[in-house]
Amino acid sequence: MSYSKVEKPGYFGEFGGSFVPPQLQEALNYLEKQYNLYKDDPVFNKEFRYYLKEYIGRDNPLTYAEKLTEKLGGAKIYLKREDLNHTGSHKINNVMGQILLAKRMGVKRIIAETGAGQHGVATATGCAMFGMDCVVYMGAEDVRRQALNVFRMELLGAKVVSVSNGQGRLKDAVDAALTDYMESYEHTFYLLGSAVGPHPYPTMVKHFQSVISEESKAQILEKEGRLPDAVIACAGGGSNAIGAFAHYIDKPSVRLIGVEPDKAPTLTEGVPAEIHGFKTLALIDEDGNPKKTYSIAAGLDYPGIGPEHSSLKVSGRAEYYSVTNEEVLEAFQVLCKEEGVIPALESAHAVAYTLKLAPTLDKEQLLIVNVSGRGDKDVQEVFELLKQKKS
Ligand SMILES: *Cc1c(COP(=O)(O)O)cnc(C)c1O
Repeated sequence: MSYSKVEKPGYFGEFGGSFVPPQLQEALNYLEKQYNLYKDDPVFNKEFRYYLKEYIGRDNPLTYAEKLTEKLGGAKIYLKREDLNHTGSHKINNVMGQILLAKRMGVKRIIAETGAGQHGVATATGCAMFGMDCVVYMGAEDVRRQALNVFRMELLGAKVVSVSNGQGRLKDAVDAALTDYMESYEHTFYLLGSAVGPHPYPTMVKHFQSVISEESKAQILEKEGRLPDAVIACAGGGSNAIGAFAHYIDKPSVRLIGVEPDKAPTLTEGVPAEIHGFKTLALIDEDGNPKKTYSIAAGLDYPGIGPEHSSLKVSGRAEYYSVTNEEVLEAFQVLCKEEGVIPALESAHAVAYTLKLAPTLDKEQLLIVNVSGRGDKDVQEVFELLKQKKS
């Protein structure tokens, strides 16, 4: 049985596709052609591998979490250490792939959207290194809340454009970036930050992020001589999860588990809908507009999800669960104390589900938990949240 095969380019079962104005479709068609031209090109891939190693610091380890395993008394737990990448998360894998593609296309201007600022910082980093102009669209409200990340992007040479339309949030930044792209695509590359959006983005982002499972598979085979029983990752737009799943999707013995916040439960409660130019499971209100979501992890605060996850959910190939803020805060502290790893609050969602699952499994079972990023950015927030809880 084969799962989540792309039947038509850009479709995953009934999900995906591209629902955009004709002018933007023209830009996307051009991008798709260029992507297809380079993705299997040996010279392009050699260059991609070079920067993964020399700039991002890959391969990152698959660390055996010995104390956590003993504490939980069940399955053997391994941590895939995306937190050790340059800039501190998996986001730079995708940024590097897309920037190299832009370079091949002869483009010198990069635009991106960002919510909390993580993707903006990763994009600004890549642009600094390759000497490209970088414009990052960010909602006015997010600019205010994430002043330090705005400053980081500026230090790295990017221009941050504050978008005051709508609610001044991620959605409005996406709209502004798309408007720019429609008018500028002949000399501008839109570097999208997750496995969402119209085709070819979900396919392209998965391709660049699949290095996560390519590595983890080789590493677990070397350490244990067999595939894991489950892979667990958090899901916001779904890029770290699809990258962590990619090389196991056609291995039915490996359970694929995505974890989302209970206040943004796209896959556990979403319905088929069209948002931001593609079809997916999404949280929408009676008028068909994206619902407001909330998560203590800004990176998971999105009412939609990459279309391939919707397909994996509907086909039953992957499982998705939600965890509460309480459980995430607990998991954050457990990973700090047991393993000396401070996870991003996003990644702590995957850890939270692991704390529930591992004790129910026997000692021969193997789990891989994708630690999508480091938690230094979240320490202040966790400090505040724990202080509130005590008082
Ligand atoms: C942005 C981010 C996420 C969420 O994005 P996905 O596309 O779902 O991976 C998860 N973890 C970290 C550390 C992030 O920065």
